[in-house]
Amino acid sequence: MEEILATAQCPYCGVGCGLEIFKDKKGRVKIRGDKSHPATKGDLCLKPIPFPKVMNIGRVPSPLYRENKKEQFREISWEEAVKIIASKLKENKPDENYFYISGQLTTEDSYLINKFVKGFVKTNNIDANSRLCMASAVMGYKLSFGSDGPPGSYEDIDDADAFIFAGSNAAWTHPVLFKRVLKRKKELPQAKIVVIDPVFTATAEKADIWVDINPGTDTVLFNSILYLLEKKGWIDFDFIKKHTQNFSEALEEAYKYPPEIASKICGIKESLIYKLAEIYAFSKKIISFWTMGFNQSTNGTMKNLSLINVHLATGRINEKGCPFSLTGQPNAMGGREVGYLVNGLPGYRDVRNSEDRRYMEKFWGIPEGSIKENPGMTIVEAVDKIISGDIKLFWIVCTNPAVTMPNLNKFWKALRNTFVIVQDAYLTDSVDYANLVLPASQWGEKEGVMTGSDRTITYNRPFSEPPSQCKHDWEIFCLVAKEMGWEEFFPYKNSREIFDEYKKTTKGRLCDISDWNYEDLPKKWGGKWLYRDKKFPTESDKARFNRAVYTPAADNTDYPYSIVLTTGRTKKQWHTMTRTGKALELLRDETEPFILLNDEDSLELGIFDNDYINIRSVRGQIYIKAKVGKIKRGVAFAPFGYGKIYHFPTNILVSDAVDPVSKEPELKFSAVYIKAKKKR
Ligand code: SF4
Repeated sequence: MEEILATAQCPYCGVGCGLEIFKDKKGRVKIRGDKSHPATKGDLCLKPIPFPKVMNIGRVPSPLYRENKKEQFREISWEEAVKIIASKLKENKPDENYFYISGQLTTEDSYLINKFVKGFVKTNNIDANSRLCMASAVMGYKLSFGSDGPPGSYEDIDDADAFIFAGSNAAWTHPVLFKRVLKRKKELPQAKIVVIDPVFTATAEKADIWVDINPGTDTVLFNSILYLLEKKGWIDFDFIKKHTQNFSEALEEAYKYPPEIASKICGIKESLIYKLAEIYAFSKKIISFWTMGFNQSTNGTMKNLSLINVHLATGRINEKGCPFSLTGQPNAMGGREVGYLVNGLPGYRDVRNSEDRRYMEKFWGIPEGSIKENPGMTIVEAVDKIISGDIKLFWIVCTNPAVTMPNLNKFWKALRNTFVIVQDAYLTDSVDYANLVLPASQWGEKEGVMTGSDRTITYNRPFSEPPSQCKHDWEIFCLVAKEMGWEEFFPYKNSREIFDEYKKTTKGRLCDISDWNYEDLPKKWGGKWLYRDKKFPTESDKARFNRAVYTPAADNTDYPYSIVLTTGRTKKQWHTMTRTGKALELLRDETEPFILLNDEDSLELGIFDNDYINIRSVRGQIYIKAKVGKIKRGVAFAPFGYGKIYHFPTNILVSDAVDPVSKEPELKFSAVYIKAKKKR
């Protein structure tokens, strides 16, 4: 007999598929889609299927410690580990500590760590890997709508007739969502799929139109679309008048980019811009999806604003469409709801707002003034402070920045220069730089909720006991709190108690779940539309147009660094491959990193498929296998997830310049020099 063990949200991408974990007739633990899940209805991709087979490979064996990073680790007890951390926290000034957490944590973990750091350590130096992923989208939404969160849901796909994928290879990165788009296209063959990307991705292969844009120039393209929409009278005057403000400001900027100018900057045909304007103007319902191709840019916030401006100008909200950013991590949305970035507080509150600070201080029972007013340092900004010795403790929870951070040589130097704690289920690359390693339980071994990209909240029921040496992430912070003398504020016995506390902070907020409980779940839908009555949480209840100003990428592409490297994911691997990289069925065909080159570029350089080549940027160099394929001339693509075990992580080459508003780094535009194999 088959036995259902649990239902949960997939631990990988932000689509947030509902999974059912069961024991088959032979007693083997297996994973399949959960048909009753409201967002994904039983669909799933290949990635989570081998999880039960690999979940215990490469686990952290016990708390590990070394004072000096040149020494070997020795096993220590939890008591000793907790005492070491507490003594460091007591020794350091609040802002000498830095916490780097993850969108893979449950909402309860993120809430509790945020409370520990902002309320009790009294620093706002806490950031999450969402900074490398979604920070520009968060700013785009907040500046346009007054609050974070995509306004639509996956159901919008089922009656849309146009889909724009901007800087998103959803066919690989969000496959279940893309499958739903293809299903709609099959039902309605005239529906349009447009892909805006310098790489001819698997998503572009299925598209009606591929816009092979120059990297980093999307703001120009969307400004030009807005220019055309207005010139041709294709805007929704009624919507603009009733529900928006500042249109003339956005338009003034857009007027700098008529198609004849924009096409040159973007490196595309003018006719493509006309085509896109027509699609925005005349489709019945249009959804624009975007991910890192937009966000990971020094112009990332502006790209987001320019796209949302086009939606506002054509009234493409709710029944007529949605500007829909997709998250890369499974619970990036939940983390944003609890405010786990440098400026956030629970319930979409902000440390810069005195009412919000007072509310949370009262709620947590701490003296007025405990929460600092100024946002903490974002992760890329913190690197210089670590190198200069201003940050003395760097605590990494459930993420692997030793592979994902930009300009890795510099980041590794920073890690060598401070006391590093790595709290993780696995011995990741980041462990190489740690003084203290804490074995944590992981997905499948702990309960808690996660929020997917369309705001559906799923309760994760555990189906496996963690190895005996592991503790839950929230439990580890409670132990340290006890050692610090804060026990009465961290009395939790289980994650349900944390959930019950957190949900009260959401009352009356946009993410209100104050009347929910674990029993209502496992799956509760966030609702079809966020701004159902087209009232937006701004001073005037109106959405805001914003001036979307284009600035070129930070790297200089003068000779010899004249190829632009962009990065992304592969089809079957997820993030830094700590789990998917251990499953043979997922690793097959993806056993080593590669760089994709344009065929004319490769011919000119004398490089052919499978040649090992040297690539340099001003930040470092790597050796990597070449692949020749369909990508814009002058652009190269490499996956970022392969760690040191595969030799050279790609991000050694990658730019750490940041967007001035969102502070998200420019992982998608790095000028590189590719050494020719032979002179032709
Ligand atoms: Fe998991 Fe994403 Fe695949 Fe769904 S599409 S099963 S969330 S990796």
